[in-house]
Amino acid sequence: MTTTGSIPEQDQKSEAVTQRIRRGLKLWEEFGDQIEWVAEDRCKVPSCRRAGRHYLVILGPDGERCGCPDYQRNREKLALCKHTTAALISWSKRSTYRVEKRHNSLLPGDEWLLIEHRAGHEELVGAYLWIGQAYLDKWTLEGS
Ligand SMILES: [Zn+2]
Repeated sequence: MTTTGSIPEQDQKSEAVTQRIRRGLKLWEEFGDQIEWVAEDRCKVPSCRRAGRHYLVILGPDGERCGCPDYQRNREKLALCKHTTAALISWSKRSTYRVEKRHNSLLPGDEWLLIEHRAGHEELVGAYLWIGQAYLDKWTLEGS
């Protein structure tokens, strides 16, 4: 006996969304270290089925997009797939860095602090005294 016909559309949608979130979590657990961020808002997420293949996921203010067949097929109805889910997990765990200038009254110059922000936490990961161009070059390398 099939009950598919009696399941309200909202329940089907909810099940479809849950399934993609579960698969996205599994994808992130298995291949999260292979997600490659190519710009602030986009990354390459590996395909589970075909080794070496990936899909481009773009995070936008009005939602996420993915180039995979599942997303293309269901974008109107679900607007997500396992790749967008994995990308959002990866994005939330990415480290971002900022530089803060602090005047140090004991030292001849300003002190520059490198602060890492990750998953809601901030940590001081570097501090340099500004004395010349050499330090600026070092910062540029570390920030890239
Ligand atoms: Zn996808």
